[in-house]
Amino acid sequence: DQTVCAPLPVLGRDVTVPLVTGGEVAYAALDYAASAPALQRVWDDVAAYAPYYGSVHRGAGYLSQLSTDLFENARGTVAAFLGCRADDQVVFTRSTTDSLNLLARALPADCQVFVFETEHHASLLPWQDARVSFLDAPRTPRQAVETLERALADRDPHGPALVCVTGASNVTGELWPVRELAAAAHAHGARIVLDAAQLAPHHPVDLRELDVDWVAFSGHKLYAPFGSGVLAGRADWLRAAEPYLAGGGASRKVTRRTDGGVDVEWHESAARHEAGSPNVIGAYSIASACKALTEAGWDTLVAREQHLVRTVREGLAEVPEVRILSLFGDDAPRVGVLSFVVEGWNSSHFAAALSAEYGIGVRDGLFCAHPLVRTLLGSDPQTQGECGAPEAAPGEKSLNAIRVSFGAGTPDEHVARFVSAVK
Ligand code: PMP
Repeated sequence: DQTVCAPLPVLGRDVTVPLVTGGEVAYAALDYAASAPALQRVWDDVAAYAPYYGSVHRGAGYLSQLSTDLFENARGTVAAFLGCRADDQVVFTRSTTDSLNLLARALPADCQVFVFETEHHASLLPWQDARVSFLDAPRTPRQAVETLERALADRDPHGPALVCVTGASNVTGELWPVRELAAAAHAHGARIVLDAAQLAPHHPVDLRELDVDWVAFSGHKLYAPFGSGVLAGRADWLRAAEPYLAGGGASRKVTRRTDGGVDVEWHESAARHEAGSPNVIGAYSIASACKALTEAGWDTLVAREQHLVRTVREGLAEVPEVRILSLFGDDAPRVGVLSFVVEGWNSSHFAAALSAEYGIGVRDGLFCAHPLVRTLLGSDPQTQGECGAPEAAPGEKSLNAIRVSFGAGTPDEHVARFVSAVK
């Protein structure tokens, strides 16, 4: 562990917060799964470019051309980061939620969708207009593959089908068997989209190596600032679909018909789904983050994060009242995301105390994955808390959980403070 590298510099390192006990302490951001702090390097890149940005694709002026180049080059950087195939498209969106909704709008007619009930709501909910099969929570990675295989075997083999699966859970941090699920999908003639919102910030994601058809992720979890995301993958469904948004930029030619209507030819490139003035700074910041992570090296980043995961696991194991939540077992491989409950404690009060007394920012709640948290806590759907609803009374069964999450910018001290605060 001594050889593990230093954290990457991120924004917010110097922020101090007041404590109820008096004095101030350096803020320990341990809520990376919600939004990770931007890398300093990304912020610097954006600041250097900011005075020069202009509207992309339209202007003849120098700054507009510069911005167009940066925007289009950002696609190339993201494509390389994700190991895209030559004919894949990289569409810039607002977020993972936006990316998956875009894909949901691009499904071919009669597409059947398969999704585990354990997904984040962003992966669970966009498919309501299609025929969706919700698959029961598996208790091992093997069971996940078997459950999917059984569901796919029962489907109409001639119609189109899509499997949507997360790479790493935003609740347990557990890694899902993406390669095996992709093989099962393809063996049954289905396609697969990977929700990499929690995987991409912690692990290399290579479309070719995983053999997934699309991948979606958010910039603000990948150490870039807010407001941008990516959907990357197969071009055919995207090209065949109506544009996600109708408007300028997506249309190649618009003509007035003699009957008074309007004919539109839409672009076939990624621009088809990017109508309106694109978020060039957002795209540029994602590309900058991709470069920074690649340069830091995944082996180093993963080694450092796993060292922090071990510290948290070992520390929490010394507290008998703590129960770490897991679907696949306590020893299952996971990224730097762990949820837990503390016997005799209201999770919201516990999280509030970590903030007020120790300057530690974690999250409490249901993490936009209600069916999963319900399974993990064994709670009754009728009594389970809602987002923002009051928690169980002290001594009652927990309705919510506490989540600690960290990544490339987390210093050892933050994790050590967290462990000692829980103790
Ligand atoms: N999928 C997973 C697994 C997530 O953790 C999140 C964010 N918590 C999302 C999707 C949605 O990401 P965003 O809010 O950036 O759209």
